[in-house]
Amino acid sequence: MRIPFIAGNWKMYKTSAEAAAFAVAFKELYHDTDVKAAICAPFTQLETLVKAFEGTGIGVGAQNVHFEKEGAYTGEISAGMLQEIGVDYCIVGHSERRQYFGETDETVNCKLKTLLPTGIIPILCVGEVLEEREAGREQEVVRSQVMKAFEGIEGTDAEKVVIAYEPVWAIGTGRTASPQQANDMCGFIRTVLEDLYDDVISDRVVIQYGGSVKPENATEIMNMEEIDGALVGGASLDALKFSEIINF
Ligand code: PEP
Repeated sequence: MRIPFIAGNWKMYKTSAEAAAFAVAFKELYHDTDVKAAICAPFTQLETLVKAFEGTGIGVGAQNVHFEKEGAYTGEISAGMLQEIGVDYCIVGHSERRQYFGETDETVNCKLKTLLPTGIIPILCVGEVLEEREAGREQEVVRSQVMKAFEGIEGTDAEKVVIAYEPVWAIGTGRTASPQQANDMCGFIRTVLEDLYDDVISDRVVIQYGGSVKPENATEIMNMEEIDGALVGGASLDALKFSEIINF
């Protein structure tokens, strides 16, 4: 049984004071729900959120990690450092990191391998750009991203990974994939996992949709059969809007 899981991605927004204020407001709004929730925040806000959400069931995630355990990598953060402060999740391979910071399928694979032994759950982002969809290549692109991300990862680890299907053309653009397009790709990703592993493992993996999810479209998206959750950017910055999405 997959539990619906909705995560916020704050990107490079919110100071510590703003994060603390969000936590106070959001804790008031999040209760008695069958939906798991998490906020993926900038590194400097993680400890504030871990403390603020203690005992609430609300998870905290990072937005990136380095794939080495330690070393001369100025400016980087390791999985062990995230684990030490109680982080639950880590986004890997977000399209903004692929586009602006040189993230590749190979580094994504290394990051999954460094996170999984720590117990931090990776939220693996995959998705095609507009030209690829217009050329009818979206399944080929996403299949390749998924296969490369899971290379060398055992099924017992693979089933813990959350996958977020985020068509790049729908991120921060206000342009949402239609619920049917999102559903079709989430279903397709499950068949890729079935080919890679088996139907038991593929059935356990939580697959989210991400791309301009907001209170107005959350119900329709979350009610689609193949979609188990959402990765929410802009609308997760507002405690009321994010809670409305969670209470879809
Ligand atoms: C994201 O940042 O992962 C995202 C989906 O952003 P938005 O909801 O703003 O499109």
